[in-house]
Amino acid sequence: MKVEQKIALLRQELREHNYKYYVLDTPTISDYEFDMKLKALQELENVHPEFYDPTSPTLRVGGEVTKNFETIPHEHRMYSLDNSYSKEDLQDWEKRIQRILGNVPIEFVCELKYDGASISLTYENGQLTRAVTRGDGFQGDEVTTNIKTINSIPLQLQGDFPPKFDIRGEIILTLEGFARMNHERIENGEEPYMNPRNTASGSLKLQDSALVAKRPLDCLLYSIVGAKGLNTQFEVLEKARQWGFKVPTVAKLCTSVDEVLQFVEYWDVHRHDLPYETDGVVIKVNSVQQQEELGYTAKSPRWAMAYKFKAEQVSTVLHQITYQVGRTGAITPVANLEPVLLAGTTVKRASLHNADQIAKLDIREGDTVFVEKGGEIIPKIIAVDFTKRSLNSVPTRYITHCPECGTALIRNAGEAQHFCPNDTGCPPQITGRIQHFISRKAMDIEGLGSETVELLFKEGLIANYADLYTLRVEQIMPLERMAEKSAENLVKGVAASKAIPFERVLFALGIRYVGETVAKKLAKAYKNIDALMVATQEEFVAVDEIGERIADSVVQFFSNESNRILVERLKGYGLQFSLSEAQLEQQSDKLKGQTFVVSGVFASLGRNELKKLIEDNGGKVASSVSSKTSYLVAGENMGPSKRTKAAGLGVPIITEQEFLQLVEG
Ligand code: AMP
Ligand code: ZN
Repeated sequence: MKVEQKIALLRQELREHNYKYYVLDTPTISDYEFDMKLKALQELENVHPEFYDPTSPTLRVGGEVTKNFETIPHEHRMYSLDNSYSKEDLQDWEKRIQRILGNVPIEFVCELKYDGASISLTYENGQLTRAVTRGDGFQGDEVTTNIKTINSIPLQLQGDFPPKFDIRGEIILTLEGFARMNHERIENGEEPYMNPRNTASGSLKLQDSALVAKRPLDCLLYSIVGAKGLNTQFEVLEKARQWGFKVPTVAKLCTSVDEVLQFVEYWDVHRHDLPYETDGVVIKVNSVQQQEELGYTAKSPRWAMAYKFKAEQVSTVLHQITYQVGRTGAITPVANLEPVLLAGTTVKRASLHNADQIAKLDIREGDTVFVEKGGEIIPKIIAVDFTKRSLNSVPTRYITHCPECGTALIRNAGEAQHFCPNDTGCPPQITGRIQHFISRKAMDIEGLGSETVELLFKEGLIANYADLYTLRVEQIMPLERMAEKSAENLVKGVAASKAIPFERVLFALGIRYVGETVAKKLAKAYKNIDALMVATQEEFVAVDEIGERIADSVVQFFSNESNRILVERLKGYGLQFSLSEAQLEQQSDKLKGQTFVVSGVFASLGRNELKKLIEDNGGKVASSVSSKTSYLVAGENMGPSKRTKAAGLGVPIITEQEFLQLVEG
């Protein structure tokens, strides 16, 4: 088989699997097989850039960086929707449109109103050519590179699609995906995101598309503009589905407002079973011809109406405010409530966020409070029912000392949360740090779980993560629920972790703000722990993408004597505290201080490979040419504007060969 055919075949295969996995939710091969095929395709594409395809499944992983998102006018305006809140509102609407259309039957399509960020996608000859945010409805931001990383958005359509059209939808995060992201943030010592909608919307404007690719974003489609031959909204949904888009099947065709109301009532209850959030129903006149007759007001179509669900709210009694201490020492006030049924689940606790929130709402123990389940997974208290406050209630005094260890709390300027500074003596901080250390993305210690860590700590067998490496089978065996086998596995798992590479050990140390990515950056920049431990704040900030906040935190960590002792001990046990020979071999400082812009398609290297080569050799990659650019590496089909700009600024333009000589020479 010719290479070109092989590439085409792999692309087609991967497209189909992608569709089955992300749109239909019924994969037919394993993730591993999928990854292998993707890797095979990536390798072929690297060697054969002449078969470049802007819709290749390999583009899903992202990598391109956008510094400034371009503002682009919408060819067809993106309207808002009128809102309704009651049965009467809907009946009034029906009367209004019936008056305009005359005495003819009207069909309605009911869809859910997905709560995310709206997007307009342009397809030409079946290929996604452009994605623009809603903006002010007349113009929005072009976010195509980011959108291409969203797996449920087809880059190449199937079936009998029109030559050119715009399709609109909502970019969302499923509740599960959102929870997963937050879990990771908390593990990294970062503040969790507030709600799925804002997070989805913020994702579209991230500069690094590789970061967008990592977020579990999804896109649900609901309307097509500019395509001929589609006569009803229901048909639009069906066609879009056939062409490969993700269109929820809950949409229903109704012949009366009564039927519409049944749909609304059903989903008002069952919306909590959905994997994503909805804040209402959108009702649309089905016939496109009738839609055209009805037209638009200044703001919204007359042929459509949103029905907004009431955010579900209940009132209950707040018994007590307690305070939780996290791994980083952050204090979270928690409301302990009289159990109450809300949105299908029993709620006993709600987050109060921080001292300011408590003061703002003037929440006191014994109050009757209104609890709402909004975008947040944990319900939140939105107000106090002051009519029910007892006369002898006393204002809440926020705690001044740690509930776990008694240390006086601190609050840094500009931060909302209080902290317990006793990081070496505060039990939940100690166990939290050990739990982070052993977690999957850190040391990944098999045979040891969070509960066992707590048990070992309680029994006095460990007081920090270095102590794990001193554990002996005879010590563990007598513990509750521990058999010889599990004790052996634990010790074996701990020993095996000594092979975990440096960047993960660095992440495992649990330095505040040093997540996986930052740990990788630091490991690469400093190569071993000794260099890192003596680096100054200024030196850290000079490392690409390391900000002051991270720099301060790292310096502070290593200026702490007990942390230095821990590191010394871990070194003694044989953990990896420098990059391996193999990792070092691929690296140099040859391009230090130089900034490269890469443009076009290359003969022997993929674009991402080329960028990695630059970074591994100490150089920086920028997305646009400026006076700071050292070289423009030019491939085939390079954008003419980049060339002109480089020439104008006197930036040298070099070929791939010349670049490789720079690296090797
Ligand atoms: P609003 O922002 O409240 O004026 O509501 C209009 C927005 O609802 C649109 O811009 C869409 O992004 C969003 N929306 C969500 N689901 C749908 C749907 N099924 N049909 C139409 N619009 C929807
Ligand atoms: Zn404490």
